[in-house]
Amino acid sequence: LHTTSAVPNILTSPLPDIDLPSGNLTSLILNKVTEWGHHTASECSVTGRKYTYSQLVDGASRWAGMLTKMGMKKGDVLAVVMPNCPEYPIVLLGTLMAGVVVSTVNSNYTAGEIHRQLLDCDAKMVLYDPVLETSVDGALAQHQRPLLVVTNGPSARSGALNLHHVFEDTNIAFADPVELSGEELALMPYSSGTTGPPKGVAITHNGFSSNMAMYSVPASLPVKEATATSQGAFMCLLPCYHIYGILPICLIGLTKGINIVTVPKFDPNTFVSTITSHKMSTLHLVPPLLNFLLHSPSVTAESMAHLEHFVIGAAPVSPSAAQGFKEKLKKEIFFQEGYGMTEVLLTHVVPVGTDEVGTCGHLLPNVKARVVDTVTGEDLKAYEDGEIWVQTPSMMKGYFQNPTATAETIDADGWLHTGDVGHYDERGFFKIVDRTKELIKVKGLQVSPSELEDLLRRCPAVVDVGVVGVPDDRLGEAPRAYVVTSKMVSEAFIHGFLEDKVAPHKKLAGGVCFVKELPKTATGKLLRRELKRMAMEGSA
Ligand code: AMP
Repeated sequence: LHTTSAVPNILTSPLPDIDLPSGNLTSLILNKVTEWGHHTASECSVTGRKYTYSQLVDGASRWAGMLTKMGMKKGDVLAVVMPNCPEYPIVLLGTLMAGVVVSTVNSNYTAGEIHRQLLDCDAKMVLYDPVLETSVDGALAQHQRPLLVVTNGPSARSGALNLHHVFEDTNIAFADPVELSGEELALMPYSSGTTGPPKGVAITHNGFSSNMAMYSVPASLPVKEATATSQGAFMCLLPCYHIYGILPICLIGLTKGINIVTVPKFDPNTFVSTITSHKMSTLHLVPPLLNFLLHSPSVTAESMAHLEHFVIGAAPVSPSAAQGFKEKLKKEIFFQEGYGMTEVLLTHVVPVGTDEVGTCGHLLPNVKARVVDTVTGEDLKAYEDGEIWVQTPSMMKGYFQNPTATAETIDADGWLHTGDVGHYDERGFFKIVDRTKELIKVKGLQVSPSELEDLLRRCPAVVDVGVVGVPDDRLGEAPRAYVVTSKMVSEAFIHGFLEDKVAPHKKLAGGVCFVKELPKTATGKLLRRELKRMAMEGSA
């Protein structure tokens, strides 16, 4: 067990610490891509639209030049509202080159949800895909502040700049990456963290580049770099607005010369045919997708003979699903579970060469962790369950313009309290067993119960409400609302109320239960764990 010598219960990685990069994170990518300019950098699994690495660099450099020309400065925020598409990695690269901060918006968001984020992240510019015209139109109609607008393709919006014209406009000078110390903000995805509504997670260039370096050590990342004549492909189905799509798929992919095959929307046939046509050896998944592969008749030992390595995060992998899949494919597959959260990026991963399922592995280099008793605050020993606290160079600076929420998550000694419960074994391998935080994860995506409760309280007839996640085979977890009403209303009435207010993954797929009262403390605070217990026992 690797611990710091001073405090036996503070764990460190069994791998040696590494020197961390600093500065503009795009240099990690740009220093390498010239070697594989002719290879495909990104392509759409549906339309086949694609860009080579040369086109990626040219497009990103022009986009960076255009941002400056349009008056975007270091630290200004660009909100990106696009489904996964081959332009996403180009925009990420170019925006970061210019020192502009990217706030990624869930592409399934409703107009109201998009508008909330545009306001909260203080966006100066929005880039959206015209397929999302209706929801973005609705958001922009509510937005009272000036906003520059760019679209990924032709759109009906007057005055909007077309991103593709920027890529092709030879009058725009290629911009070099701006000089940065690296402490400047790079990305601001949204996460509800341990409590409350989604908040902007302010991550710096150094945070990202450190995490890329910490994960890219050979003991953790068994992905081959492209050569002059060959390259691998990653499926980019997990959303580019989430850290999972951004970091291990897009950014790491680009440093390895990978073809990033973007999937805008899950479709069983495209999913399977994309794996086979690109002979993918590595797949990035969340557990519900593993279940799909396990049960899909078109997934066979012959068609998937090239698969070797699954990177799985967001929730624990079921050992029986992993075993079932190995039997179905009649071969060994490396099920590499990882653990992380938007606020700290990746902190744990199963090391290469470990044939073990049911653990999220050990700490990455340069990361420290403790497991702390939630009642006594004492550091716990191997196999004792408690809340996981971490310290990592990739930790967020804080929640954007929200010092209160930041102080509730990162303590005075710099430990981030994850709200996840788990333990480590004698080798320092961790297992996550529960959460103390409110968060519900639906297909790997975040749902904030308090956000849903706030909305539902505005529903006529609803007097009180508590939302918890219930286990669901297809979704992982499903949000369920327990409501107290002033008069008889139907479950359909409650669903109807939420219909146009929340993205599909936030809908109450776990159902609505009408109750006389909710479990509360003497001071009126919802006893969420008690509600969860009721849900698990089906006692309501
Ligand atoms: P997000 O910020 O959306 O990436 O969500 C992070 C949360 O996902 C963590 O705090 C955990 O609750 C959950 N999570 C991530 N990886 C795992 C894992 N390997 N096992 C269990 N839960 C996980």
